[in-house]
Amino acid sequence: MPGVGRATYDEVMVPVYRPPAVIPVRGEGSRIWDQEGRDYVDFAAGTAVNALGHAHPALIGALTDQAGRLWHLSNVLANEPALRLARRLTQLTFADRAFFANSGAEANEAAFKLARRWGHTKFGPRKHTIVAFLDGFHGRTLFTVSVGGQRRYREHFDPLPGGIRHVPFNDPAALEAVMDDSVCAVVMEPIQGEAGVIPATPEFAREVRRLCDRHDALLIYDEIQTGNGRTGTLFAYEQHGIVPDVLTTAKGLGGGFPIGAMLTSGKFAEALSSGTHGTTFGGNPLACAVAGAVLDEICTERVLGNVKARGAQLWAGLTRLAQTYGLFEPPRGMGLLIGVPLRDPWRGKAREVADAALGEGLWVLVGGPDALRFAPALNIPAVDVETGLDRLERTCRSLSA
Ligand SMILES: *Cc1c(COP(=O)(O)O)cnc(C)c1O
Repeated sequence: MPGVGRATYDEVMVPVYRPPAVIPVRGEGSRIWDQEGRDYVDFAAGTAVNALGHAHPALIGALTDQAGRLWHLSNVLANEPALRLARRLTQLTFADRAFFANSGAEANEAAFKLARRWGHTKFGPRKHTIVAFLDGFHGRTLFTVSVGGQRRYREHFDPLPGGIRHVPFNDPAALEAVMDDSVCAVVMEPIQGEAGVIPATPEFAREVRRLCDRHDALLIYDEIQTGNGRTGTLFAYEQHGIVPDVLTTAKGLGGGFPIGAMLTSGKFAEALSSGTHGTTFGGNPLACAVAGAVLDEICTERVLGNVKARGAQLWAGLTRLAQTYGLFEPPRGMGLLIGVPLRDPWRGKAREVADAALGEGLWVLVGGPDALRFAPALNIPAVDVETGLDRLERTCRSLSA
C-alpha cells in the first residue's frame, strides 16, 4: 500500500489544481500506469510536454550521461550543453540568438521584457504597448497572465502591469484598429491551445506580420505548445509562410525536463544587454542536454512523418466519433494538436468528459470548459492511437446512454 494517495493532496497541497483520484507511477511510450497497476493510453503527454513519450531511451541516456558530469553552474559560467543547444536551435530556425529559461511563462516574460526594452531604447518610453489576443494564453506569472487574454486568470490579482491591449483573434480589422506607433510587440499563438485549439489562419498570420512591419512592432510567436514538432514541422510559423521576430517555446522542448527558450535575431537580442535580465536555473546543463537529445529525435522524418500520419489517424477517428455520437463537433487543429468543441449538454463540462475518459483508461486534456484537447507524444504508435480511440468511443457511448 503506497504511503501517499489522492487524499494526501487535499492535506498538503495549495489547492490550485483539482486532480482526479488516479495517481500515475510509471510510464513507457504512450502508456502510463497508476498506483493500482491500471493502464492508460496517454493522449495528453503531460500537456504536450512528453514529446517522445515516457522513458525514451535516448532521453534517459542524455540525462544520466550529463548527471554524471555536471548538474549546474548558474549563468556566471557558460556550459557546453547550453551552447550546443543554442547552436542547434539557431541553425534550425530563423533566429541567431537564444535565451534559456525554465518554463513557458519565463520564456514569454523574457520576450515581453525584450520588446519593452527594445521599444524604450530604440524609440523612447512611449513605445511600450503590447498587443495580445482575447482567449490567448501566455503563462501564469503576473506579467504573462496580464498579457494573456483570459480575464478569469487575472481576476483579483490587480493592480496588474499596464500597457497591454487585447483584440479578437483571427480578426485583422480589429488588430488594425488598435495598432499605432506606441505598439512595441504583438504576441500570438499560432494555435490558441488552452482556449480549445483554435488555429490562426495563415492569412491572419500574414496580416499580423504586415501590421507589425508597418508599425515597427516585434512579432512574438508563442510556440510554447505548438513548437518542437507538434504541428508536423519543427515550428508552426514555417507553415504560415512568415517569420516572427521573437519565438518562445518550452513544453515539448525538454521532453519532460523543464526548460523554456526565447529565440530571436541579434539586432533585437541586443536590447537585453548584459545585466538587464537573467535567471539562475536557465540553461541548466541537465535540461539542455536532454533538450538536445529531444531535438535530435524530433528532427527526423521518422518522428515528423509520424506526427502527420498519426494526426490524420486521430483526426479521422474523431471525425467518425463526432458523427456517430454527437457528443462533440468535428476536430480542428494541426498535426498532433487537435481539439473538439463539446456540444450540448456537454458544453461547459469538459472536465467531466475528460474524467469519464480517464475512467475508461484514456488520458485526454481539456481546452477550456468547452473543448477536449489531444496532444499525444509525437512518436505515438498507430496501435495506441487506435486503442485510445476505442476507449474514447466507450466514453462517448456511456455518456450518451
Ligand atoms: C503552457 C503555455 C504557456 C506557459 O508555459 P508554462 O511552462 O506553464 O509556464 C505559455 N504559452 C502557451 C501558448 C502555453 O501553451
